[in-house]
Amino acid sequence: MRFTTRFAPSPTGRLHLGHAYSAILADNAARSAGGVFLVRIEDIDRNRCRPEFETALLSDLAWLGLDCPLPVRRQSDHFDDYAAALDKLRALGVLYRCFLTRREISEQSLSAPHAPGEGIDGVIYPGPAVAMSRDEEHARIARGESFAWRIAMKYSQDLLGEEFSRLEFVERDLTTNVERRIAAHPHLHGDVILARKDTPASYHLCVVHDDALQGVTHIVRGEDLRSSTHVHVLLQKLLGLPTPVYSHHALLTGPDGKRYAKRDQALTLAALREAGVSPAEIRARIGLPA
Ligand code: GLU
Repeated sequence: MRFTTRFAPSPTGRLHLGHAYSAILADNAARSAGGVFLVRIEDIDRNRCRPEFETALLSDLAWLGLDCPLPVRRQSDHFDDYAAALDKLRALGVLYRCFLTRREISEQSLSAPHAPGEGIDGVIYPGPAVAMSRDEEHARIARGESFAWRIAMKYSQDLLGEEFSRLEFVERDLTTNVERRIAAHPHLHGDVILARKDTPASYHLCVVHDDALQGVTHIVRGEDLRSSTHVHVLLQKLLGLPTPVYSHHALLTGPDGKRYAKRDQALTLAALREAGVSPAEIRARIGLPA
């Protein structure tokens, strides 16, 4: 299978040096393997994503010299795909409706004997002690209450049996190309949200679906997403999708030691470009060869 990797930004702001670092690392990996570098627009959060940021990020990437096959996949054009993936999980019985608000979950967590703490999407929700009755569920739906579709880790574990304890992924070091096997522990992240009543799919579901659909063999992304990988490996197993090789790179930090964020206006590629900085200087600035 041809080496295929991708850069998958969300158009919620202008790209900064941290994005440039991640995108260039992925592009370099594809070039050195004679493979393909894809760009994917992850814009399922319709409240935070803006078309003008999509246009801007594509122009920033082109300016950096990162060419990708066109058209790029835009997730908001494919909600039907994610609905079908959710249906598949629902048919396996691993999804349930959760009517608790974030605040209720935080409060439960504070009063728990062993507070589960923060996970990949905020406070970890270990799941209900007792499943909600059908009657109560139907009554709440009829009242129009909001809910999230969560994956039941416990049930997934029962369903997969031994296979659950053998879940793993290969992590590849981008500098040495050394690969090592990492055991995946999705249950440590609790019953993660895969969709909401008003948001048809979560990042976790879409990313897993699209990486498989687009034939992504190698994922290069920041180490802040390593914990999510544990959950992605479970979703891949449940959906019958292959698990790519993962490289989680260190996050670039600015002179103040803090990681770059969309709020750092001065360090957007647009601002640097306007200030006369060249793409070669950007590479030098983030420690990558021209
Ligand atoms: N869309 C995600 C982000 O902007 C990245 C997803 C990924 O690389 O898996 O943080």
